[in-house]
Amino acid sequence: MTQITPTSRATVYGYPRQGAQRQLKKETESYWAGRGDADALLGTARELRLQNLAELRDAGIDEIPSNCFSFYDHVLDTAWMLGAIPERHLAAVPDTTSPAGELDRYFAMARGTADAPPLEMTKWFDTNYHYLVPELGPDTWFTLNASKPLDEFAEALEQGVRTRPVLVGPITFLLLAKDPIGTDGFGPLDLLDQVVPLYVDLLRLLHEAGAEWVQIDEPALVTDQPADVLAKVADTYTTLAVAQARPKILVASYFDRLGDALPVLASAPVEGLALDFTNAAAANLDGLAAVGGIREKRLVAGVVNGRNIWAADLTAALSTLSALVELSGSVDVAASCSLLHVPLDVTLETDLDPEIAGWLSFARQKLDEIVTLRRGLTEGRAAISNVVHLNESRLASRAASPIVRVPAVRDRVAAVTDADLHRTSPYGKRCEAQQDRLRLPELPTTTIGSFPQTQELRKARAALRAGKLDHDAYQEAMRAEIRAVIAEQEQIGLDALVHGEPERNDMVQYFGEQLTGFLATQHGWVQSYGTRYVRPPLIVGDVSRPEPMTVEWATYAQSLTERPVKGMLTGPVTMLAWSFVRDDQPEGATARQVALALRDEVSDLEQAGISVIQVDEPALRETLPLRTADRAAYLDWAVASFQLSTAGVRDDTQIHTHMCYAEFGDVLQAIIGMDADVISLEAARSAMSIVADLARAGYPNEAGPGVWDIHSPRVPSVEEIAGHLRTAIGVFPSDRLWVNPDCGLKTRGYPEVRATLANLVEATGQLRARP
Ligand code: GLN
Ligand code: ZN
Repeated sequence: MTQITPTSRATVYGYPRQGAQRQLKKETESYWAGRGDADALLGTARELRLQNLAELRDAGIDEIPSNCFSFYDHVLDTAWMLGAIPERHLAAVPDTTSPAGELDRYFAMARGTADAPPLEMTKWFDTNYHYLVPELGPDTWFTLNASKPLDEFAEALEQGVRTRPVLVGPITFLLLAKDPIGTDGFGPLDLLDQVVPLYVDLLRLLHEAGAEWVQIDEPALVTDQPADVLAKVADTYTTLAVAQARPKILVASYFDRLGDALPVLASAPVEGLALDFTNAAAANLDGLAAVGGIREKRLVAGVVNGRNIWAADLTAALSTLSALVELSGSVDVAASCSLLHVPLDVTLETDLDPEIAGWLSFARQKLDEIVTLRRGLTEGRAAISNVVHLNESRLASRAASPIVRVPAVRDRVAAVTDADLHRTSPYGKRCEAQQDRLRLPELPTTTIGSFPQTQELRKARAALRAGKLDHDAYQEAMRAEIRAVIAEQEQIGLDALVHGEPERNDMVQYFGEQLTGFLATQHGWVQSYGTRYVRPPLIVGDVSRPEPMTVEWATYAQSLTERPVKGMLTGPVTMLAWSFVRDDQPEGATARQVALALRDEVSDLEQAGISVIQVDEPALRETLPLRTADRAAYLDWAVASFQLSTAGVRDDTQIHTHMCYAEFGDVLQAIIGMDADVISLEAARSAMSIVADLARAGYPNEAGPGVWDIHSPRVPSVEEIAGHLRTAIGVFPSDRLWVNPDCGLKTRGYPEVRATLANLVEATGQLRARP
């Protein structure tokens, strides 16, 4: 029986920013290109904020957030608000007296200028949203610029809406900052004493402007934090709370459980807490019970998943809410995190089967779910029974759908044995068979897969989509590109070649379009960073491969050369990480299905005579759970699904994998467990330190540490590359080393690709000739 709590409110923490017609992206990009002026951009931004305000209000959201709009990124906005602007960006745009000046300096931090590189970018927790990493050092001097939160609050108040401003919290902001190099003994949290007084000032200003509540986001508290950091959390929120004139404080957490931070926040003198009750529901419920509830505080319950695209189970959410009513002073209903992470509106998807559309819920639909649940709490379940019945029947249709559960796929997954996860022979034996077949020289050279995506390739794809180029002409254009890429590589003198991936729009989308169980959207744009939006595929049902996906391209490329051409696939973990994944079975189960589909592709490539097959897993580390305790279970299924996709080949077929990120520490054992014959890794920016790490961890197979940082057009010299190789050979057996760039070359231009690969081949030659 649902308890009735008349005071419950419906709320969210943020909403998609760019508008239904992608207006913000278009206006921003035309501002950058010099086609539109600052006033036009500011005007569009204001219009979009007012539209969102109206949309949320009309949907029945009782407490609407503000300051969740951004021209680029909310962490950058926070750095801006605190005056944490690097010297080089101040110098790049010295005059900010006009609106254009302000925008230009802000965008200089985000995108860089000719002489001032931008802030680094990295993933926002375990999402696919990227934030700009604040650069803080012992000399950082903060000054408060509260205009954005104040203006956005005032703008909404003029419309008669008293919003709840949303701020990135001081602890999270500092923990997300970069640890500056060469400042031993300094950590960004050392700046807390300087930052907290600015938040006190900001709270006073918001109070004077009329704010009753403020939301302070501390998602960093869902990651493991040592006791000294938790002590700082307690101090910080005590200081903020004792400040005299201020709005009530809601401390928000999302993406995972609060864990040890829960008792700290529960006893802090703030007025409200927001917790994630989707994936972290059980742990957060237990945590609240363990502290005896928070009866003096407002609880904002994130019961509607803000990160996936599935219709909520309203009955289950209601029962979570009822349990929470027992544990807190008041319960409000919210999405688990900002709705920024989901597409805007399912009703825009006109091609979608209406039955499937009923299973889905994008940002706009989630508002309705939240408001319905709030009504369930304030008016009783009977008041929403119609909606709940419809919801139940849609969930039932999904559960019973032949798209969702395909017996043949399930039988096949059930029949997987441990033997399917392991190659027939150990690496030592495979290595001999591969050497006999491939006859590669010492320190074989290769690239990671993609070659530059030229303007012509993009045009050909656009023309195909627009119906201006027929299928055959498109195929021929791709074949011509493959011929050119193979010829380039032969001329440069590389050993293991690639076909260049010209036919792929994106390494996940390309396969998603060909696999049963995946679904593409027309308008499902989600912000990746700045004005870059992606349309992740949805995994709605059991996955299978109706027919070969890459064999034709691979065999064509191989027919052009005597040297081995690598077959190129995207691994199961990355396929999941860059899609919206089904929520009705463990991710590991979905990964196994994808793995079996890939296993068939791997086997077809082998049958077709492809001797080297690379299965990329660049996302393996980014989906690592936020809490350390959850990582082993994740890595278990991640490694097993990679093995399942690759272990079915003969000894003399060489399996490669590829990963690219700065930090491998957490996944070294997983890399060993994957048992690829060769792994290529990003290494140039960290001066090959990964090679020593691999050696220390006892990694037994072959490795290709990247010798070229492909993130910039800079051409490394022969000496520089040879230096990297000498470093690697110094710590790792040279007969197990490969030579390759850090990652694919699709974002690079031909001039630097030709120059660098020539240097790479020459440097390798020098090392082969060493005494
Ligand atoms: N094979 C892909 C490429 O070369 C790998 C991309 C990646 O690691 N993100 O583009
Ligand atoms: Zn890569």
